[in-house]
Amino acid sequence: MADLGYPYKRLNVPKEWLPINGKLPSEALAKLSCGGTGWFDVNHCGGFVFACNVMYDDARKAGITLKAVSEGYRSYARQEALFYDRYSDRPTGRKPEITRYFNGGKWYLKVGKSPSATPGYSPHGWGVAQDFDVNNGDVFTWLRANAPKYGLYLQGPPAYLATGPNPEYEPWHWQLSEPLNPTRLVKRRWRQFKELL
Ligand SMILES: [Zn+2]
Repeated sequence: MADLGYPYKRLNVPKEWLPINGKLPSEALAKLSCGGTGWFDVNHCGGFVFACNVMYDDARKAGITLKAVSEGYRSYARQEALFYDRYSDRPTGRKPEITRYFNGGKWYLKVGKSPSATPGYSPHGWGVAQDFDVNNGDVFTWLRANAPKYGLYLQGPPAYLATGPNPEYEPWHWQLSEPLNPTRLVKRRWRQFKELL
């Protein structure tokens, strides 16, 4: 079987988005077909919600059901609570430590916890990310082959460190890379959608 690779790309948000992470007004949010909510914006082809929902519909046609395992959009307060649950200001002794800088200090990922973004910087706080159930290999294979058509990517490759698998790798987490630049496929489908209204 051809190697699909692990499509990943960094998230490029405009500078003016930085202060609004986790603080989106309810009118900027809408429901995702897979579950949860995300960023919706009619001026950008429906934002993450439309891209993710078009992807959901196409996956269904291919016999794949995308199921969310998180809320999608996450408020600042929720991200902060997650962060304090997972990180401690005391080193764990793990090598290498997984660290974040927050509130003027250095924080260390507790052993047995999954990494999460620093509050204020999570793609979930802008409503441009969702976590899918990828326990079914067919789902993960479909995402790797198709998600980029909708502008969705992993955050990074499943790199192996000298100490073992990269703990920052999250195969379930897919995010919009260029929120203000929808892909051609999404633009086309948005135009068709508007014609139906
Ligand atoms: Zn995530």
